[in-house]
Amino acid sequence: MNSLLPTAIVGSLPKPAWLAEPEQLWSPWRLEAAALVEGKHDALAIAADEQRRAGLDIIADGEQTRQHFVTTFIEHLRGVDFEHRETVRIRDRYDASVPTVVGAVSRERPVFVEDARTLRAQTNQPIKWALPGPMTMIDTLADKHYGSREELAREFAKILNQEAKELEAAGVDIIQFDEPAFNVFFDDVRDWGVEVLELAAEGLRAETVVHICYGYGIKANTDWKATLGPEWRQYEESFPLLQRSSIDTVSLERHNSRVPVELIELLRGKRVMVGAVDVATHEIETPEEVAATLRDVLRFVDSDKLIPSTNCGMAPLPRTVARKKMAALASGAAIVRAELTGTSASLDSTAGPHA
Ligand SMILES: [Zn+2]
Repeated sequence: MNSLLPTAIVGSLPKPAWLAEPEQLWSPWRLEAAALVEGKHDALAIAADEQRRAGLDIIADGEQTRQHFVTTFIEHLRGVDFEHRETVRIRDRYDASVPTVVGAVSRERPVFVEDARTLRAQTNQPIKWALPGPMTMIDTLADKHYGSREELAREFAKILNQEAKELEAAGVDIIQFDEPAFNVFFDDVRDWGVEVLELAAEGLRAETVVHICYGYGIKANTDWKATLGPEWRQYEESFPLLQRSSIDTVSLERHNSRVPVELIELLRGKRVMVGAVDVATHEIETPEEVAATLRDVLRFVDSDKLIPSTNCGMAPLPRTVARKKMAALASGAAIVRAELTGTSASLDSTAGPHA
């Protein structure tokens, strides 16, 4: 485990083909019932092993136990009707058929806690678990009960906080909230979004991360990105708010993105997870390319606060591509780490699983 420039993936990894249809987002399961439960846990163990062998320092679940980063969590809640679907506009970008909130929302039982225990048993390295953020959750639902986006988000924040505290008790070191909606609803972010996110993270001893990004490399997102112009300055609005927030770490994409690098200065003082690996292409970054991205970013982030990462989730990629991209990330970080400490670059291979 490297304490300087510790590396991590942002979110998902491709699932094995025996578990779910490969190279698809939100792909359906290929197993059922008890076989599905066992298959998910086997996939978690494989995902942990692949990250470790690639040389990553922080081990994530790779979202092996969920079909969708938001919906799988919501499916476990009371108050949401999955039979009555409505078509709504997601993040002002594309239409989707979504479930309806028909009553008070609550969490009947832990959602990912058992999965987190399974991951914990795979490694002594720090582990990270991602949950959807409250604003992103409300954006994937039609509300027929609360009549207020803010009120529903506050209810989800309470539920997320319960889940996060139990994940922490199960040994999760880093809890990440995925809030791509922060890049769209700027007025809401300012008026209540950051405050509600802090509510979701309240009282946690675990490190907290918010991942805000311009989305996966799917067509609706790439079409939207094409309308944003040569410079993406959207973060200019959210970064100062997040810099002042109680969230420890901000996660964003960098490699091949049009976000002006100097905007990262607005986060000075926070830990920053910076994407040095593109997830929208099959092309494998060289370690030197990764290192160049990190050196560039280090002008705006203190070296003890930089966490090199992927840009976003890698679920739609072929598994071999994801593996090579993780290895490139680790090797690139090792180059810069060696430069910072004046030693020669080498990958830490001392980490191993629990005996
Ligand atoms: Zn993302």
